[in-house]
Parts: sequence; structure tokens; C-alpha cells
Amino acid sequence: MRYVFPPAPQVSVPVAGSDARFPVRRVYCVGRNYADHAREMGADTREPPFFFSKPADALVPGGGDVAYPLATNNLQHEVELVVALGKGGANIPLDQALDCVFGYAVGFDLTKRDLQQRSKDKGHPWELGKGFDQGGPIAAIQPVSVVGHPAQGAVWLKVNGELRQNGDLAQMSWKVAEVIANLSSYVALAAGDLIFTGTPAGVSTIVRGDLIEGGVAGVGELKITLV
Ligand code: MN
Repeated sequence: MRYVFPPAPQVSVPVAGSDARFPVRRVYCVGRNYADHAREMGADTREPPFFFSKPADALVPGGGDVAYPLATNNLQHEVELVVALGKGGANIPLDQALDCVFGYAVGFDLTKRDLQQRSKDKGHPWELGKGFDQGGPIAAIQPVSVVGHPAQGAVWLKVNGELRQNGDLAQMSWKVAEVIANLSSYVALAAGDLIFTGTPAGVSTIVRGDLIEGGVAGVGELKITLV
């Protein structure tokens, strides 16, 4: 195969305890999956799940320095459990959904809240408020064989050492299996897909120089510095 220019490199995420990396296909995110965060965003807390995407090359595997993105004055953090799929399919039955999971990671769904709010007000897509360069820091993926399927435990985030988000996986409105089953009724999922599963309350503005640390109990921790 010849290309008119070299193709972009395959995006991949480290796998804890392995030399092999997880090759990323698509990155989906769940909106408002914790009732307390939905409330702080002024939304109905009983809505069915809805989804948006980030480009795979927005991931920042392993965290570290993240460049403050273009065209925002209100960048915010959202700490999330990320599901990494080892297989997929369409219309996956609920009782088979967890069989598709390769592992779990901690991720930050960085959000240009000002752009997102303007888009909401106009009924426009959120795309540019959510999908942007370095908008998806993610820690190493922990295989299911090591961490199982975490369904409870702290989901927390600190900015410069100060606790801002302190939720629990048990508060998720739509559980991991339900998220996979529901999403697969809209699109065929496949190995390499990541799903950011939503964030608890406490999102706040971050600025250049901030150190952002977050974690999910039993899954790991992630640290970035905005530069
Ligand atoms: Mn989010």
C-alpha cells in the first residue's frame, strides 16, 4: 500500500504489567451519568444515557504535561472510569456486555465549558467543547484479570492538592454493562474502543500551572500538569 503522505501513527494506551499496548479505535463518552453532576449542570437526572465522542488522537496516554487548549477561557476537569473493550458487536445483550471488557483505566474528560455551554444554548453539537487536542488524558489500562469489574469505590480528583471531586462508582446512573449494551444499540462496538463513563459532581475551572490528580479506587491514578 502506498499513501500520498505517511499515515498518522496508531494511538495506543499502556497496559499495566505488560509490554504490549492497547491499540485505540474509537473514544466514546457518556454524558451526565452521575445524578449529582447532572444536577450541577441543571439537567434532568432521570434521562437515558447519551453519548458523544472524542477523537482517538486527543488521548494523552500516561498523563504528564498537557498544553492549555485553544479557544477557551473556561477549561474544566471531569474524572472518569474508562472502559476499554477487547471485543464488541452490535446490540450486545446486557448479560454479555461485561464479557467485552478488556480492562479499566482512569481518564480525564477535559471540557471547554464555555464552548459547550454556547453549543447547548444554540442547540449545536458539543463537538468542539469536548473533542480537542490533548483533551483526553488517560492512565494505563488495568486488565479485568487483575482488577475485575469495579462497581463501587471512590472517584476523586484534586487540583493543586485540594479535593474537588469525590464521588463513588456506585452512584453511576447507568452501570458499565448498561452503557455498553445501550451504546451498541446505536453503533457497532469493536476491540480498541474506549468509553469514558461520566463524572461525579465537583467539576471546576483549571488554569495553566495547575496540577490535576485523580483516581478511581482499585483502578489507578492519573496526574497531569496544565502548561
Ligand atoms: Mn464527561
